[in-house]
Amino acid sequence: CGIVGYIGKRQASPILLDGLSRLEYRGYDSAGIALLNGSATVNIIKRAGRIDNLRAAVAEVSHQGATGIAHTRWATHGAPTDENAHPHRDQSGKLVLVHNGVIENYQTLRDQLTAKGHSFESQTDTEVLAHLVGTYFDASDETDGPTRLRSAVQAALGKVKGTYGIAVLHGDVPGVIVGARLGSPLVVGLGEGEHYLASDVSAIVAHTRDVVYLNDHDIVSLSNDRFDVASMAGGAAQVKVSRVEFSADD
Ligand code: GLU
Repeated sequence: CGIVGYIGKRQASPILLDGLSRLEYRGYDSAGIALLNGSATVNIIKRAGRIDNLRAAVAEVSHQGATGIAHTRWATHGAPTDENAHPHRDQSGKLVLVHNGVIENYQTLRDQLTAKGHSFESQTDTEVLAHLVGTYFDASDETDGPTRLRSAVQAALGKVKGTYGIAVLHGDVPGVIVGARLGSPLVVGLGEGEHYLASDVSAIVAHTRDVVYLNDHDIVSLSNDRFDVASMAGGAAQVKVSRVEFSADD
């Protein structure tokens, strides 16, 4: 339902939680956050119910991180439980993904992955996508981490039928968030030494008004100091920086 991502120098969790709150009006049944810290550990906190539940749970632990992704879920596959809330991990536990939309062929993919020894912690279509991206990442011999993660995302999405807006992190690749969209909106927010990713500009407009709306089939890599958009459909991506004008009461 809602996605927020942050990569920069500030603590990500308040930015992500505030962003989720801005998306609350769209409706949701659970919420979660993943933070990547300097020691390559991705910590996930997720809760069924209100964002306030998540906020309280985040306040209880002292997870730090200047890179993170967060999600409000509106369940399509699997009940609204803590386990089914996003973010979801891959089999290695190091790759973390949030997703808006529906993976229509998830059951076939899940059966194939289960036959290869994967085990799943949720009933969601999204966890299957996380595992699928992880298989491409783990099988890759690409030595540049950000390229490896982005290529794995693109390869996995090539096997998927359905709709998605996604954000992906990997513990072995600090310093990058990969996003992609098809049939579900995503916008990149441009800051100084920091970048944002969101399903709706209202989640990030408190921080930046310079944004790039992604198009269907776009894939993006975000780091502190750059963003890089390409089209998975082939051809050049249409990248246009827009200035969001909001009224004073926003
Ligand atoms: N299909 C996914 C799920 O049920 C994502 C739903 C959403 O867009 O929030 O977990």
